[in-house]
Amino acid sequence: MNKQTNKVIIIGTGFVGSTTAFTLMHSSLISEIVLIDINKEKAEGEAMDLNHGVSFVKPMEIRVGDYSDCKDADIIIITAGPSIQPGETRLDLANKNSKIIENTMKEIVKYTEDALIIIATNPVDVLTYVAVKSVNYDKNKVIGTGTVLDSSRFRYLLSNKFNIDTRNVHGYIIGEHGDSEVAVWSLTNVAGSRIDKSCPLCINSCDINTQKIFEQVRDAGYEILKRKGVTQYGISLATRRIVEAILRNENSVLTVSSVLNGEYSLSDVALSIPTIVNRHGVSKKLDLNLEDEEMNNLKKSSDKLRGILDSINY
Ligand code: NAD
Repeated sequence: MNKQTNKVIIIGTGFVGSTTAFTLMHSSLISEIVLIDINKEKAEGEAMDLNHGVSFVKPMEIRVGDYSDCKDADIIIITAGPSIQPGETRLDLANKNSKIIENTMKEIVKYTEDALIIIATNPVDVLTYVAVKSVNYDKNKVIGTGTVLDSSRFRYLLSNKFNIDTRNVHGYIIGEHGDSEVAVWSLTNVAGSRIDKSCPLCINSCDINTQKIFEQVRDAGYEILKRKGVTQYGISLATRRIVEAILRNENSVLTVSSVLNGEYSLSDVALSIPTIVNRHGVSKKLDLNLEDEEMNNLKKSSDKLRGILDSINY
């Protein structure tokens, strides 16, 4: 049988975990999804509900399992842990969720050193670092969803503004997934033209309010939470995109979060920079030619994350 026998474990079957399972059902790439949750009944309910749609997708198995299922898993997706509460920042969650990630990683390594691990739980950059360091897992196999979602929000807002296909807008949000993230305007382009300087879509000068667009991207999560209390669709599709890049060995450039080791003269943190992702996980982090202000802001983002890690003794 060819490698359609891909097995994915999802740990945490709340809004993000269950919606991720739902989006992965449609990918036709996965033959087995195993759901794990501290609340087993919740996982069971999700498995039942999802299975009732299996006749509408490619043949696959969806079931509740436990950590021993990790032994032959291709990918383990961690979405366990509470979401952000009103008035909290993503980084306030660090203390709470780092304990969950530590315990989860200790269970996982009893059964595998091979699986690629995708972390979506927030604060995702802090927890990506904790996941690697708490059990000494291969850092290239631990991938935070990072700013994959933020970069998608950025491209969506720009495409909306210019009324152009989102796929033709190229741009990256880097750094922390959160308040200190950085928009790389100097490399944001349509048809190869820098959008904030010589936008090919505008006849004279472009009236784009870069600060406003950046703030809308940065604060998008809070704005959604204010209205509906959770965010699940964007992050689940971002996670699916990472899974596809891995399982299809795509060498795709994605702004995933990973542990840095001197890139951009930064180390001892995990954050997002454009990264080539393939079947081996993080293959190469791209060395972008950032402007001074962008580089300074990336350094500030890294310092902020290091401060949080210091405060939780990592
Ligand atoms: P949720 O509260 O709906 O679900 C969390 C699930 O985790 C619950 O089912 C809970 O029982 C389970 N859980 C808790 N501790 C566990 C443990 N030790 N082992 C196994 N399962 C455990 O929350 P949600 O809305 O699904 O969000 C999950 C996480 O994803 C949050 O941290 C949230 O902030 C994060 N998130 C990240 C992004 C992103 O862009 N990275 C976007 C949205 C949400």
